Formats: sequence, C-alpha cells, structure tokens
Amino acid sequence: MEYLINISYIVASVLFIFGIKMLGSADTARKGNSISALGMLLAVVVTLLESGLSYTWIIAGLIIGSAIGVVAAKRVQMTGMPELVALFNGFGGLASLLVGWAEFAKAGNFDDSEYPVFTGCAVVFAILVGGITFTGSLIAYLKLSGKMGGSATNFPGQKIINLLLFIALLVVGGVFVATNAAWALYLVIALSLALGVLGVIPIGGGDMPVVISFLNSFSGIAASAAGFVILNNVLIVAGCLVGASGIILTVIMCKAMNRTLGNVLFGSFGATGGKAQEVEGEMKALSTEDAYYILESAESVIFVPGYGMAVAQAQHAVKELGQILENNGAEVRYAIHPVAGRMPGHMNVLLAEADVPYEQLCEMDDVNAIMESVDVAIVIGANDVVNPAAGEDESSPIYGMPIINVHQAKTVFALKRGQGAGFSGLVNTLFFRENTRMIYGDAKATMNDLVGQFKD
Ligand code: NDP
Repeated sequence: MEYLINISYIVASVLFIFGIKMLGSADTARKGNSISALGMLLAVVVTLLESGLSYTWIIAGLIIGSAIGVVAAKRVQMTGMPELVALFNGFGGLASLLVGWAEFAKAGNFDDSEYPVFTGCAVVFAILVGGITFTGSLIAYLKLSGKMGGSATNFPGQKIINLLLFIALLVVGGVFVATNAAWALYLVIALSLALGVLGVIPIGGGDMPVVISFLNSFSGIAASAAGFVILNNVLIVAGCLVGASGIILTVIMCKAMNRTLGNVLFGSFGATGGKAQEVEGEMKALSTEDAYYILESAESVIFVPGYGMAVAQAQHAVKELGQILENNGAEVRYAIHPVAGRMPGHMNVLLAEADVPYEQLCEMDDVNAIMESVDVAIVIGANDVVNPAAGEDESSPIYGMPIINVHQAKTVFALKRGQGAGFSGLVNTLFFRENTRMIYGDAKATMNDLVGQFKD
C-alpha cells in the first residue's frame, strides 16, 4: 500500500508541474488548472487511504471548512477577491503551524532519543514560517480591505526590534530542538505570530503587491516544512512549487516597482503616502458626447485598465468599445501594468473573462515605446500605475517605479468617479495635464455611454 501511495504522489506531483506550466499561456491556462486540480484530487484520495486515520475528524473538518469556504466565496464581491486570497494564504500558514504543533502534542513529552533532531527542526521551521505567514497575511487582509490604514506604520527602533525578535526566535527554536521543552515551543509560536504582525505593518502604499506574493511564497514554504514534519512527499513537493513560484512572482513584482526585495521589506515605503502635494493646472472635464467625436477619428487607441475597472466591472463594456473602435479602423491595444488592480494578474483575468484577444494585450515597455504616436489613451480607473510623478518627482514616494506613460499620448481620457486618490494616496499630476480630459462617472456607465454614442 505504501508503494502505491508513493507512486500516486509522484503522479500527482507531475500533474502539478504540467498544470503550472500550462498556466503560462492564456490558451492552455484553463486546462492547466484542471490538470493541477486532478493532481490534488489524486493526492487527497490517496492520503485518505493511509492507515490509522480518524475519519470522524476528517469528515468534521471537511464539512466545517467547506461550509466556510462556500459561504466566503459566494459572498465575496469581485473587488474583495484580493483580500480573500490574502486571508486564505494566512490560513495555509496557520494550518502548517498547527501541523507542527500537533506533531509535538501527539507524542506528549518525548525523551530526546524518541524525537529526532530533524523532526524538531522541521517542527520549528513549520511553526516559524507558518506563524509569520498567518499574522502577516491577516495584516495584509486588513490593509487591503481598508479595515486598517493602507500606509506604512512606523515607530522608533522598529527594525532593531524586528531583528532582535528574529534572533530570539532562532535561539528559542534551537533550545526546543535541543531540549524538547514545551515552553520553548510555545515561545516559538508566540514570537513568530508577533514577527508576522511587526514585519508587515511597516510596509504599505504601493508595495503591498510584493508583500502579498511574498507571503504567498511563504505559505508554500510553510506547507513544505509541514510535509517534512509528517514526512509526506506530496506536501513537500506541492509546498516547494508554491514557494518557488511565489518567489519568482515576488521578484517580477519587485522589478515592476523598480525596487529590491530588501528595500520593500525594510524600506518602509508608503510611510509618506497620503501627503497632499501642490499641483499646477486644473482638471478638465469632458462629456461622453465630445469624447465620441475624438474617438471616432482616432487611428490608434490604448486602453489602460486599473483597479477602478474591477470596481465597476467594466471589462465587457471595454471590450465592446474596443471592438467598435477596431471596426471603425483604429488600431486598438490594451496595456497592463504588472501591479494594476489589487492582486497579481488582476487585469489579465478580467480582460480574459471579457474575451479580449490575447494578441491585443501589450507589455508596459512595448507600449511605452510607441506612446507618443498614440492618438487616445483611455485610462479606466487606473491611478498609481499612470502617475507621472514616478518618473519626474524625486521627492515622490513612488519615484523610480516604472509606469505606463499615458501622459505622452496625444490625448488622454481619464475615467474615474471623482477626485479619489489611488491606493498609495498620492495626488496624480496626470489629471491636471494639458492633454488630459476627465470623464467623470462609474467606468462601466461611461463605457456603455460611449458604446451608445457609436451605435446611435
Ligand atoms: P489605484 O488604486 O491607484 O486607483 C484606482 C482608481 O480607480 C481610483 O483613483 C478611483 O478614483 C478609481 N475608481 C474606483 N472605482 C471606480 C469606478 N467604479 N469607476 C471608475 N473609476 C473608479 O489603481 P491602479 O490599478 O492604478 O494601481 C494599483 C495600486 O494598488 C498600486 O499602487 C499597487 O501598488 C497597489 N496594489 C496592487 C496589488 C496587486 O497585486 N496588483 C496588491 C495591492 C496593492 P475615484 O475614487 O475618483 O473613482
């Protein structure tokens, strides 16, 4: 039976790897998801065949967990998805912490000979990474959902305290491995939970995407450590895959923000977010009727979606307008900034849902290279990712972050409801430029209006 279980785990791991590979392209992504899910089903079924399991507890956990999951997923608004993902990440960390703790509790008070150093290290590691992931993700959830201020929270000596906390964690973890003392394990749990909170509160503003993908990677590493605790091969492999892909995404996010990971984690970006800046000029409003005349004669149009498109759920209307403009002879492209929206790939998912042709999606660098020749750039609820201060104002907290240079287009239409700031809380000088026209209102209503103008 053990032989069969391990063979099945290898098959499940191969399915995970193929599934992830297929997620790399929009055409195969759906199939890749199903293949990975099949791998997970196989892993779960085979794990349930292991001897000595208490099915009563498993079924109770399954019912309670599924009930919470179904209710949470049904009730969540599309815009609440990022914070739900952050919360689920955190629960992954908590699960790993509990696995580590349970392994200790299961054996009661071991003597040294019964409790190998390897397992002790794995228990400490699972609890340490799981604990940091759990409370760190809770803070990310609170920040993303607006239940806690999104900017960085700093206090004197913060970095030193965090460093001392980390050193204390390693020391106490070492004591636990050497002595198996229960108090040491409980201290590791408490310190790792505290470090998760203190590590994430100094990060804010536009750096949250990096933190989210970093915590996602952490939840994978925690799962892998839990796999070492209970010596389950498929958990080790799946955890490593999540950990590795999460860290690759983190690096991509850092590059997109033009920052190093160390700078994000210890640089307290966003501490100054929200400060009001002096801006010259005024915001000029435009009606959809007038916008129609400009669009009607445009030869090239670029759509730049942002978080506001997700709020308005305007993607289908955007696609419809794009199609109309194309039929009218314009060259239509969609430019996606890597950190637009509130979660990695947020805009790609929405545009894919609306069946926007994949070839029309452009990378930031490619679109910036041709921006000066673009007749109209339509910014749909994007703000931080098109803020020219990132390239021009050295005192801006987002200085150095690459943006989509829509301000270089001949005309910019900025669609938003009012004077609201972006996630970082900064003023956006784009909206005050000579070539920018504000089209106020909900992005979906505005898009539908524009579509209506073409149809009339
Ligand atoms: P922003 O959050 O900077 O701006 C969104 C804009 O949309 C606001 O200015 C708002 O203005 C407007 N808006 C909101 N609702 C509507 C609506 N119904 N119709 C029209 N407009 C609307 O979005 P960006 O996508 O430009 O930037 C993303 C930001 O989020 C970056 O700072 C990024 O770092 C951060 N972030 C990204 C994550 C990721 O993984 N992608 C994760 C966490 C944070 P108004 O209120 O006036 O309508």
